[in-house]
Amino acid sequence: MSKESVYVTRPSLPPLADMLPYLEKIWQTGILTNGGPMHQELELALARYLNVPYISLFSNATIALITAFKALHLSGEVITTPYSFVATSHALMWNQITPVFVDIDPLTLNLNPDLIEAAITDKTTAILPVHCYGIPCNIEAIQAIADKHGLKVIYDAAHAFSVRQGQRSILSAGDLSVLSFHATKVFNTFEGGAIVSPDEASKRHIDHLKNFGFVDEVSVVEIGINGKMNEFQAAVGLLQLQRVDAAIQSRAEIDRYYREQLANVKGISFLHTPADWSSNFSYFPIEIGSEFPVSRDALYHHFKQHDIHPRRYFYPLIPEFEMYRHLASANIANLPEAKKVSERVLCLPIYPDMPREVQQKIVSLILALAQGAEA
Ligand SMILES: *Cc1c(COP(=O)(O)O)cnc(C)c1O
Repeated sequence: MSKESVYVTRPSLPPLADMLPYLEKIWQTGILTNGGPMHQELELALARYLNVPYISLFSNATIALITAFKALHLSGEVITTPYSFVATSHALMWNQITPVFVDIDPLTLNLNPDLIEAAITDKTTAILPVHCYGIPCNIEAIQAIADKHGLKVIYDAAHAFSVRQGQRSILSAGDLSVLSFHATKVFNTFEGGAIVSPDEASKRHIDHLKNFGFVDEVSVVEIGINGKMNEFQAAVGLLQLQRVDAAIQSRAEIDRYYREQLANVKGISFLHTPADWSSNFSYFPIEIGSEFPVSRDALYHHFKQHDIHPRRYFYPLIPEFEMYRHLASANIANLPEAKKVSERVLCLPIYPDMPREVQQKIVSLILALAQGAEA
């Protein structure tokens, strides 16, 4: 057993030797950013790999979300999930948009479509669901509600890189989808993100917005932002893309091992796996129920004492943070499923090439607690 600390993820890196020719090219050409050759190549390669129409690369997903809302001229209120990373709602706030929290479906942990309509007001302009842990939202039901009420749908697809339902990428759902390529995600460019657009006009508009609003050297048509991915990030992305299938495969094996080893532990349950779902195995969340001898938080601290650092994604809930608490929709009494899940879920470490003995140690810590209760 290595003595290194074990974190929930360990970012994948391309081999340094493979990186050097890309760096040499950047140094030779002196093209560092502004939609250079590597940026253009990565956009095309990702659109092909993900099987989506158009991609615009960004410096990170938070700026991409902020830009996506701007591109669709959203204002007023947007219906979203309390069970996500805080950037989902923060990006609304940066557009002076009020998030309206609606509870999650306890099966998928995603926005519950049955509760959306009751939250629509004359100020609502869009729905912002998250494919939490890469589990697909109920795309058809959400689209039907959006169509009925004339709302836009933007997916925070930060967890959903390469996820498909049947043969179809879930990234082409809704009006726009936003990906994150942060170091902790399945596909990383150190920092990075992207917007998936359905058509060329939307992509072009987004590309202008992420470059200050410039459409040519002398024309600025909108109040844009600087959201451009640079050439270094794009070079990392091009190399990562060559290895991402192997990385997902490796994650799948770790996922399978956890499922086998923990299948019969009383009080530990796995999340829903839709039948026609191709997961990217980005997270391994378990739910710790009342039948397990210790609470989720006690298990979390027990792991920490052994220098293993799982994460309580997502705890606290977004509406529990101080800047959201005053909102009417942030009343936790109206978000019982999200509250319950946020107190029960623990995301176990999962990353490519995770040593088997590390997995064994994680499993045995859980089994020891479970068996201790039986003895
Ligand atoms: C990681 C993440 C983000 C933010 O992505 P960055 O690229 O770090 O800005 C947004 N939403 C969700 C659900 C995330 O997990």
